[in-house]
Amino acid sequence: MSASLTQALEEPRQKVRIAWLELTCLPCGEVAGYIEDGRVVRPVYPGGIRLEQGRPRCGRCNALLFGGERGVATSRESIG
Ligand SMILES: [Zn+2]
Repeated sequence: MSASLTQALEEPRQKVRIAWLELTCLPCGEVAGYIEDGRVVRPVYPGGIRLEQGRPRCGRCNALLFGGERGVATSRESIG
């Protein structure tokens, strides 16, 4: 086992910081998903977000999604 790997295992994931932005669909009145770190699109249900010409759209009604709440999470589980 190399020294760097040992260090990685012993060091907890405290440096993980995920900037997230909530994407809300106004017609549906629901949160469609989140954008993590400004590039990872993560819908709350499969197919909930479609990207069309770089813009996020609702997978149900095809409306443009609006950015809602935002924040910084220290783990993927604590987003939202
Ligand atoms: Zn919608």
